[in-house]
Amino acid sequence: MCGIVGYIGEKNTVQVLFEGLKRLEYRGYDSAGIAVMHRGEILTEKASGKLVNLEAQLPHLPLDAQIGIGHTRWATHGAPTKENAHPHHAGNVTIIHNGIIENYNELKTALQKDGVKFNSETDSEVIAHLLSQELLKDRPFEEALHHILEQLRGAFALGILHRSDPETIYVVKHGSPLAIGLGEGENYFASDATALVGHAKTAIYLKDGEWARIQKDQVHCYDFTGNPVEPELT
Ligand code: GLU
Repeated sequence: MCGIVGYIGEKNTVQVLFEGLKRLEYRGYDSAGIAVMHRGEILTEKASGKLVNLEAQLPHLPLDAQIGIGHTRWATHGAPTKENAHPHHAGNVTIIHNGIIENYNELKTALQKDGVKFNSETDSEVIAHLLSQELLKDRPFEEALHHILEQLRGAFALGILHRSDPETIYVVKHGSPLAIGLGEGENYFASDATALVGHAKTAIYLKDGEWARIQKDQVHCYDFTGNPVEPELT
């Protein structure tokens, strides 16, 4: 298994994300990537192989970004190439995914019939396109998210950046682990609490079928139909 991390706050986001990915290295992976949102753009660096390859590209990312997500991939669908490494973009959204989308083939075929072009061989990329297509219908983000979550089968922990919402990271949990680390004026998430140690003393372990809106000063949790969920603090 591989890992996901995310951070929102005033520290050097790229460094926090990279250190988080390093702490998850022991889980095994074949490629890695980081995306940050900065001045209305989402900027991504990805590399196949070890984290040292990604590290060499990090100077391309801004030092003052205050929101971002990172991923180490253990390929299940598609070779361990740079193109297949996460994050994956579509329209205004960028996603990272741990797990497997079992029905990705039928979802992908339907999207391709609608003219959607894919940039990777991964199952994960369908999530980005499904969400982007829903957002094109001018739906509120939450409604678009609920709509696509109804369609996904399999296991997934997701981190999502939305270009129109530069102060929020969305995370989703269904069958793959995801913990949110609460800081002061900053928040984190990771697939494994190891990545949160030293950053956050309190964590929320999302349950299957829950998603959260993570901002610098607050975290709100919901079920897949949008009902608020009172999180258990650990
Ligand atoms: N199934 C996805 C892929 O092959 C995600 C694998 C993972 O959990 O890293 O890209």
